[in-house]
Amino acid sequence: MTNVPFFRPDIDDEDIAAVVEALRSGWITTGPRVQTFEAAFARYVGAAHAVAVNSCTAALHLALAALGLRRGQAVLVPTLTFAATAEVVTYFDATPDFVDVEPDTLCMDPAAVETRLARAWNRTTEIVGAIAVHYGGQMAPMPRLAHLLRAARCFVVEDAAHALPAAAYDPETERWISVGDLADVTGFSFYANKTITTGEGGMATTADATLAQTMRSLSLHGMSQDGWTRFGAGGSWDYAIAAPGFKYNMTDIAAALGLRQLAKVDRFRARREEVAARYTAGLGDLEEIEPPRERADRRHAWHLYPIRLRLDRLAIGRDEFGQALAARGVATSVHWRPLHMQPYYAQRYGYRAEDFPVAFREWRRLVSLPIFPGMSDAAVDHVIAAVRDTAADGRRRKFAVA
Ligand SMILES: *Cc1c(COP(=O)(O)O)cnc(C)c1O
Repeated sequence: MTNVPFFRPDIDDEDIAAVVEALRSGWITTGPRVQTFEAAFARYVGAAHAVAVNSCTAALHLALAALGLRRGQAVLVPTLTFAATAEVVTYFDATPDFVDVEPDTLCMDPAAVETRLARAWNRTTEIVGAIAVHYGGQMAPMPRLAHLLRAARCFVVEDAAHALPAAAYDPETERWISVGDLADVTGFSFYANKTITTGEGGMATTADATLAQTMRSLSLHGMSQDGWTRFGAGGSWDYAIAAPGFKYNMTDIAAALGLRQLAKVDRFRARREEVAARYTAGLGDLEEIEPPRERADRRHAWHLYPIRLRLDRLAIGRDEFGQALAARGVATSVHWRPLHMQPYYAQRYGYRAEDFPVAFREWRRLVSLPIFPGMSDAAVDHVIAAVRDTAADGRRRKFAVA
């Protein structure tokens, strides 16, 4: 039987050779390869500065630290996101203030942000910023969100873990806006299953030299210079600690892989887009499911391909649907149980499931299908057949047959 994994990283012989070369070079932690990777990454995303770190979570944490988040303040976070987006806010004893998502893109809803900001005056916590998430690789409505947040003097952080590369059209300026263009700081992920990988890794990008310098220093114990500068020719052993920092630096081993992966990022995206188009062509007519909705004014990274089940037309639920796909050799996932429905956040802040009706309604019918650059047409077709068979088996019959 064919087995289709949910994801498989695309690592070729040249990627492996680059890592081996780094291992043989005599310098394996943060050094020349990290510097080259940062410069190439900044150029690719069109950012003035890029700071390489060991995860996107670290990048988001450093972003909030550099932006000066303080205890007792609040940061708006979409409830439909991965744990990291909200968790980094709690590192400061600050409050992740959840908002609902748009029904079609499942990204942070500008209308919900507007309502939250308008009511902020009678809250005990001060909303100082927001972290937008580009759900599945489709860019959040950044022009609108940035406009609303700037007007309220809030900082803007983008969690771009899914969105290398992605863009949105801004009708005001009649330009395409790339991921990161409208944010103070943007975090990218190079986790094993993200759009490019370094095993574990991340990048913080910004247009602001001071924010970049603060994040760079905080990424390595708050030290004024890193090991490569200190131990390299003409370096000195000494350094100054401006503030206590963290241990978030990227290794040259990871950067060697990152550089190779970055060279392939457009090819990877093109293949993911083909896979998505093949899915939509093969599933679009099926009445039991809805394919992901792509807006015409977005350039989608297609990190995920999340279908939604029409539960009114099915006699089975989402989990049974996933189990039936697994039985047909197709691995799936769910992105995600909304964070306000996770025990910690529900108990700590007293959220009820229905507080965010869109996220509450949609997550119950979300199933993410496999999508990755090395996926063959045959594998895509196997998944399409499995979804069609599962939908046919699970179809709700109007009249029971005796
Ligand atoms: C994967 C992911 C992260 C965390 O990335 P790491 O590199 O694993 O820290 C953050 N936000 C979202 C939306 C993610 O999917």
